[in-house]
Amino acid sequence: MGDLLSHLIDRYRLARPYRRIAEKVFSGERLSFQEGVALYQCPDVSFLGALANYVRERLHGDYAYFNRNFHIEPTNICVFDCAFCAFARRPGQEGAWEYTLEEIEQIVRRYAEAPVTEVHIVGGVHPKRGVEYYGEMLRRIKAIRPDLHIKAFTAVEIAVMAARSRMSIREALQYLRACGLDSLPGGGAEIFHPEVRAQICDSKATAEQWLHIHRTAHELGIPSNCTMLYGHLEAYEHRVDHLERLRALQDETGGFQAFIPLKFKRENNRMSHLREVPMLEDLKNYAVCRLYLDNMPHLKAYWPMIGRQTAQLSLSFGVDDVDGTIDDTTRIYAMAGGEEHPAMSTAELIGLIRGAGRIPVERDSLYRVRRIYNEHPPTEPIDLPMLA
Ligand code: SF4
Repeated sequence: MGDLLSHLIDRYRLARPYRRIAEKVFSGERLSFQEGVALYQCPDVSFLGALANYVRERLHGDYAYFNRNFHIEPTNICVFDCAFCAFARRPGQEGAWEYTLEEIEQIVRRYAEAPVTEVHIVGGVHPKRGVEYYGEMLRRIKAIRPDLHIKAFTAVEIAVMAARSRMSIREALQYLRACGLDSLPGGGAEIFHPEVRAQICDSKATAEQWLHIHRTAHELGIPSNCTMLYGHLEAYEHRVDHLERLRALQDETGGFQAFIPLKFKRENNRMSHLREVPMLEDLKNYAVCRLYLDNMPHLKAYWPMIGRQTAQLSLSFGVDDVDGTIDDTTRIYAMAGGEEHPAMSTAELIGLIRGAGRIPVERDSLYRVRRIYNEHPPTEPIDLPMLA
């Protein structure tokens, strides 16, 4: 450790504040708010990468995780109108959809024999559907695939469905869990700071509500993920404020499994006048998040949003997870300019990870290892079967 730290200090000719940050990272000391901002201001992305990679390898060695999953987006009809959103539609508007429960069942039946382990369910905040409706959806999915892990509903969806059903957040989560909910995804967090939140999503769940819902889930033993939408109107201070609040909740509950930075995409939304940040900013952001969130087990790069090459590079900037196969089942990022038909076979995901010099590890939704692909070449067939 000492050698590596000395090498970093020599190699990067570190100014005193960055030298102090490097020393703290190497000794496992927590970074302050000001140090978080200083890291974002650091012009040397390779230094940030080296430091974040040190932490990543301390936690996970060369392992890089993925799973086999698919998405269901039950509706894109939404009562809100977030400025960055390309996905939402009003009832009756062109491009709107709302699946019936029977259509949801049909989607799940397509995967009845497929070796997927997780379904990820998020969608618009529908004006009429309450907790009972979504509970029935979960029950029907479990009836078809009892073994499937259901990761479903952002805190924003839960806030509205609970209010519609006149339930407290705790009651709603308990009800959904009894119907089959296994974990929560991390969406809806965007940027917590009210200066930014007021401009990009002023009417939906506040930061305090989002954090309350995840805290309650953790208290009930429901794990969750967390996210940050970056690269739009926010300043570095807003990002660090966001990370600070997540770090504090994780100290309290330990219920977050992974943090997923989500890049702002500019197509087909009310913020199309903004430029998207360049890839170097993506890599810097991954590195700073890895360094600041010292209590977060996993840092995930969501490849349909940033692209395969950036996802591959991110594995050297603190990231240890590249999400899953997805099988062309999400439209959220495609509608905003992300990958048009996001799907990777298991072989492709393994190739992506190996191409970055890491060891692919197939995990389940709770990060339990299913298989380590450390043989060359793999000895078993690894592609998902073709789906009708
Ligand atoms: S981001 Fe979510 S809550 Fe906001 S408009 Fe889009 S679908 Fe609705």
